[in-house]
Amino acid sequence: MWQYLVNIWDSVKTPLIGMRLTWKRLFVPAVTLQYPDERWELPPNSRMQLFVNMDDCIGCIQCERACPVQCITIETIKAVPEDVEETSTGHKKRLHVKKFDIDMAKCCYCDLCTFPCPTECIYMTPSFEDSVPDRFGLVYHFAPMTPEQAAVLEEKARKFDEAEEARKAAGRPARATAAV
Ligand code: SF4
Ligand code: SF4
Repeated sequence: MWQYLVNIWDSVKTPLIGMRLTWKRLFVPAVTLQYPDERWELPPNSRMQLFVNMDDCIGCIQCERACPVQCITIETIKAVPEDVEETSTGHKKRLHVKKFDIDMAKCCYCDLCTFPCPTECIYMTPSFEDSVPDRFGLVYHFAPMTPEQAAVLEEKARKFDEAEEARKAAGRPARATAAV
């Protein structure tokens, strides 16, 4: 009889102990969020997806050199003097950026590429939700130049170089160009 009562008491006590944490947490505010409807406010200086404002990129490849995992690939074409434009920061764009790719699958989010940029056009954004079904979708192509546009600019640069070589060979002075 005594053992019978002990068993009944155990069957009541055991779930009460098991539910102790549940009862303690039941009346305190929840710390979980209903993502994606609710989101944590991210801490300042969080490191997430990179972005490049190509209007201000001068193709100096300082970011590419700074990257410890070589996930930035830049290709440029020399701009002829009449095509040299200016960035919003006042830097001359002496190179056209033909290719500017960042492989975010390789990126370790160290942020080292952003510091040497003279025009501050490469920076971390607050975006971190760019998942893709294929890892090659994480190679971001920032340069808007088409192959046809690149071919035209390459031909222009080649002709300019040839003309310069001919001028030097003939000992003629450099032609006057806009201040670049
Ligand atoms: S954050 Fe680091 S790893 Fe990623 S592209 Fe920049 S330098 Fe490379
Ligand atoms: S350092 Fe800045 S300006 Fe130079 S290539 Fe990289 S993004 Fe462009």
